[in-house]
Amino acid sequence: MPQKEDFYDLLGVSKDASKEEIKKAYRKLSKKHHPDISDDPNADEKFKKISEAYEVLSDEQKRAAYDQYGHASTDPNFGAGGGFGGGFGGGQGGFGGGGFEDIFDQFFGGGGSRRRSPNAPRQGEDLQYVMDLEFEEAIFGKETTIRYNRQEECVTCNGSGAKPGTSPQTCSQCHGAGAVNMERNTPFGRVMTQQTCPTCNGSGQEIKEKCTVCHGSGHSKKQNSVKVTVPAGVEDGNQMRLQNQGDAGVNGGPYGDLYVVFRVKPSEIFDRRGSEIYYELPLNVVQATLGDELEVPTVHGKVKFKIPAGTQPGTTFRLKGKGAPRLRGTGNGDQHIKVKVVIPKELTQEQAEHLRQFASAGDYEEVVEQGDSSFFSKVKDAFKDKNK
Ligand SMILES: [Zn+2]
Ligand SMILES: [Zn+2]
Repeated sequence: MPQKEDFYDLLGVSKDASKEEIKKAYRKLSKKHHPDISDDPNADEKFKKISEAYEVLSDEQKRAAYDQYGHASTDPNFGAGGGFGGGFGGGQGGFGGGGFEDIFDQFFGGGGSRRRSPNAPRQGEDLQYVMDLEFEEAIFGKETTIRYNRQEECVTCNGSGAKPGTSPQTCSQCHGAGAVNMERNTPFGRVMTQQTCPTCNGSGQEIKEKCTVCHGSGHSKKQNSVKVTVPAGVEDGNQMRLQNQGDAGVNGGPYGDLYVVFRVKPSEIFDRRGSEIYYELPLNVVQATLGDELEVPTVHGKVKFKIPAGTQPGTTFRLKGKGAPRLRGTGNGDQHIKVKVVIPKELTQEQAEHLRQFASAGDYEEVVEQGDSSFFSKVKDAFKDKNK
């Protein structure tokens, strides 16, 4: 193996060059030697070398290792016991990190968003998990463990996709760019077009020997289980983000997130809007007229409640603090009780007789007028107008 050139010499910077100086030197050289634009037949080789040098010197950790151990530090097997992550394809000139975006920006009009380096670490996909909750569970919250499938980093190849003992190499066709430039003659002149590299399908990396477990993807589908604490007071449609519980990232990027979406079962007796709970209380005519003391259901258990005499249909009462917890805030909402007076559809002869007696015992119209005086005065006014 021929003696490798010193990385600082390759970039033409001094050993104590600042990050900025290194970046500047690399930009200049990569522009000059990029195989897509240079006429030099050895451009390919030179470009690889400066890219490798930049990859190491632009990374604080790698640069420190290089300063201490020289080229040995870029050996993929270096640092098995030395706290060096492994996984970076040094010796073959694999390069990633910041360098590539920079030159792409220069080539394709900048803006940064046009195309990102295919080798740059990317966060994994976000996932969604729908959690069904009983009405009460949403109100009081609960702790549970959910299980779902996600892409995890393949343990056999540590996510590289390459067979253990080998490592992915910079694509020989696109030099890691993931795209190749084609010059075409058109009626309007020569036009540069860009297309996905056919050799690596845009990944920028070529895996010569694939990992047999993940077949080169670097990922494998696995069941993941996560403890979830459902906060008290969630509502149907609320969601909760669990960081890094999504799919594995690409090129060593972080995991995506998991969004847990709550689907809350409606209650048969309560309605809920936010922290307020609504309950319709059926009363018979006698209870509404004479008043009563009864037990009203709430999500917190039964509550003794006094119905005042002469309670009208549609009247609402409020049980303070008997609603759901306020998700953003403190304390509970209230329970609203709306009175529904149930008129009996069928009466025994005896009941009917009593009702007739009740009706004849006083001026029934007066009773009705007391109940809804405004309605009756309106009806009376309407008649007055008609009889004019
Ligand atoms: Zn390629
Ligand atoms: Zn694998």
